[in-house]
Amino acid sequence: MLEQETSCEVLVIGGGPAGSTIATLLAQRGRDVLMLEKSRHPRFHIGESLLPMNMPLFEQLGVAEEIKRIGIVKLGAEFVSPWHGAPVMIDFNDAWDNTYPSAYQVRRDEFDEILFKNAVSKGARAIEECKVTAIKFQPGEEALVTAKIKDGQPHNIRAKFVVDASGRDTFLSNHFDMKHRNKKHNSAAIFGHFSGAKRLPGEIEGNISLFWFDHGWFWFIPLADGNTSIGATCWPYYMKTRKTEPAQFLLDTIALCPALAMRLKDAKLASPVTATGNFSYLSERSSGRTSGENYILLGDAFAFIDPVFSSGVFLAMNSAFVGADAVDACLNQPHEAARALKKFDHAMMHGPKVFSWFIYRITTPSMRNLLMYQGSDSKIKKALISVLIGDVFGNKGFAFWLFMFKVMYYLGSFSSPKASFMAWRKRKNSIQVVEMGVAD
Ligand SMILES: Cc1cc2nc3c(=O)[nH]c(=O)nc-3n(C[C@H](O)[C@H](O)[C@H](O)COP(=O)(O)OP(=O)(O)OC[C@H]3O[C@@H](n4cnc5c(N)ncnc54)[C@H](O)[C@@H]3O)c2cc1C
Repeated sequence: MLEQETSCEVLVIGGGPAGSTIATLLAQRGRDVLMLEKSRHPRFHIGESLLPMNMPLFEQLGVAEEIKRIGIVKLGAEFVSPWHGAPVMIDFNDAWDNTYPSAYQVRRDEFDEILFKNAVSKGARAIEECKVTAIKFQPGEEALVTAKIKDGQPHNIRAKFVVDASGRDTFLSNHFDMKHRNKKHNSAAIFGHFSGAKRLPGEIEGNISLFWFDHGWFWFIPLADGNTSIGATCWPYYMKTRKTEPAQFLLDTIALCPALAMRLKDAKLASPVTATGNFSYLSERSSGRTSGENYILLGDAFAFIDPVFSSGVFLAMNSAFVGADAVDACLNQPHEAARALKKFDHAMMHGPKVFSWFIYRITTPSMRNLLMYQGSDSKIKKALISVLIGDVFGNKGFAFWLFMFKVMYYLGSFSSPKASFMAWRKRKNSIQVVEMGVAD
């Protein structure tokens, strides 16, 4: 129940992975947290493939066993390219630091519900079907937030600190008019669940597979319920060519990728198909602390680039861990606040920056050649695998070898200038925003 007029120390907008994580951490520290979620769990969400570096976060939240129960183990990633020979398997165990050599694939309705309920069990107040609709920051006073429950009645909440974890709704970024499209990248996706897909054999059954094709790439994510999540991430111009219903368009797109079509030969669509467009954006800042403003932006509420390395949920949850320290400092130790917010802002920029170097180049011939390289024991490959497991925040001593990976990428590009130029030109033309008439 939400009273007509209420107050809290920390108001969290959104109960996805970022919101539920920070609500849990702050409630555990004795803070009065109110989390508002516009929908009701369990609800569908895309983003089903997790990274090994999610695992220590689950342990710290106390949900490791519950996530294990709903997940299928992911030991690595398979890359399949029509321009190369045999597929390549990346084994997470080959990372520089292999303390966490596996992750899970999860259904997000189950996963998000576990995190949300965990926040409540740790003492956060949480209200579902309650949408934050307006906010007013006032000098010298608490923020005034308006939220509407299903019945449409407005509720007023006073909050000392506001955490925006509203995901792609980017509530605060819109409020401050500080959301910008990523000029270096643009993508669109169409996806659904299939039954009867042919999975990899034995213990690598749960690995993610990535299939390149002419208009982008596909993900193949096995789920514990027997279904497999299939999605095409394409240049927006390709999505614009859609003349049929989303389900037929997805099936027609799969037919353009023979290696994937083979794996789905006996498969049947087992869910509605969803399309989402033009997703790649960044907010101007991730925190604010001037008179009357006390806020941070977590996860997708701050930025989202591309799903190719399955980094979204990890970055969202990690931002909540760093964010919890920043909120604590702002509320309790003003002398520590500037330092804590600086660390927070750095983490918010650093993670997406590390992944974006790879993301922007994923469809270039040089990057494909490097990812399709069969050897697994070189230090350069180990450094690459370390990024793929999400080991991007520590200083684990592989920075030099990651640098060498980039050197090899540029050498590869220069050694085939024509193919590289064509790929660059195609990419430049393809990242234009196009109106697609799909859900966003
Ligand atoms: C096509 C695609 C595929 C992806 N695949 C992967 C993947 O395989 N692996 C991966 O890690 N990531 C993936 N991602 C990214 C991943 O989905 C997100 O990065 C992740 O969900 C971010 O978590 P979050 O908590 O920041 O936001 P969300 O998970 O979006 O949660 C935000 C919550 O806020 C609620 N909300 C929004 N506005 C309001 C409001 N005004 N009031 C109250 N509540 C509100 C929403 O209902 C939602 O529950 C993918 C993304 C896309 C687009």
